[in-house]
Amino acid sequence: MAGIYIHIPFCKQKCTYCDFHFSTTFEEYRQKMIESIANEFVERKDYLENKGINTIYFGGGTPSLLDQNELQIIINAIYQNFDVEEGIEISLEANPDDITDEKLEDWTAVGINRLSIGLQSFKTEDLEWMNRAHTVDEALTCVRKAQEAGISNLTVDLIYGLPNLSLDEWKSHIQQVLDFGVPHISAYCLTVEENTALNNLVNKGKMTVADDDQQSDQFKLLVSLLEENGFDQYEISNFSKAGFESKHNSNYWKGEWYLGVGPSAHSFNGLSRAWNVANNRKYLAAIDKGESHLETEILSSENQFNEYLLTGLRTAYGVDLQKLKKIAPLNNLFTVNCATFINEGWMVSTNNVLILTNEGRLKADYIASELFIFD
Ligand code: SF4
Repeated sequence: MAGIYIHIPFCKQKCTYCDFHFSTTFEEYRQKMIESIANEFVERKDYLENKGINTIYFGGGTPSLLDQNELQIIINAIYQNFDVEEGIEISLEANPDDITDEKLEDWTAVGINRLSIGLQSFKTEDLEWMNRAHTVDEALTCVRKAQEAGISNLTVDLIYGLPNLSLDEWKSHIQQVLDFGVPHISAYCLTVEENTALNNLVNKGKMTVADDDQQSDQFKLLVSLLEENGFDQYEISNFSKAGFESKHNSNYWKGEWYLGVGPSAHSFNGLSRAWNVANNRKYLAAIDKGESHLETEILSSENQFNEYLLTGLRTAYGVDLQKLKKIAPLNNLFTVNCATFINEGWMVSTNNVLILTNEGRLKADYIASELFIFD
């Protein structure tokens, strides 16, 4: 099985913390972008070597800006060029200000059956400094609208580690999404990425983000509240009720193949990774002329080993030592470090699978890096 990702590189406005690829001035070439994305499916229909497709994911950017016709053109191109499984998960990232009764009807009409809603915060002050396009009122009403329209497979995104976010406020944000009754929640710690307005504000001392202790307290509160409410933390930042795990993201974490289409989208076919040019005009011109718009990296066995460790340790599925050994032999240092982490209570080994404990998940990147192999 394999997944398809479509990157829609349009946004209404630029969020302060965001370093994804998108443009806010796209109306002039909007239609051409949709046609080019559809054409890319034709051009790359052999990339997945006839594997069946079990997930389609519209991300971005802001795919909830697309209308029914635009979505239909892309979905038709997928069905015409790939073997799509019946009952497939089709997800769309939606911003609260785009969630109207009309849009919800459009989405269900084209087969979207899972929405990922970027709520982020329920504080006006936060939404303002983040330059989000939505209001607290829209954040509070959009989930119910989607539920009333019959979309029950919903996930919402929250951000913690925000400036001046107290533990009580964070608790109230989590409680609010629990009250919605959604079956899946993703919560990310605010990170200050280079080349963002947030980075400038922090460097100029105009904004201070949460320190490590505050982030860690907020993360622990998140994990315990969601666990108490029947959510399974199947990846560090992702929590779901049974049966509502994201098939699309689980594919990534399990090392399944995926094809990414649209400017800046990444693809993976087991042995190599490819990514599209992160420039809308260059992408359109290349598709038009039938020229290359991709860079490719062949993954060495060290890369494959380290990537599998990094992603596997972040998940409840863990790292299968048999699978790891097939990529590269496990050296003595690996075995010694594993024993240390198990003694520290950060990791357990069950049936030859390494899984991090709650304590270990706080240090997941460090633990993975200590187990990496190098050229
Ligand atoms: S809407 Fe999403 S992709 Fe667009 S700027 Fe904001 S965070 Fe980035």
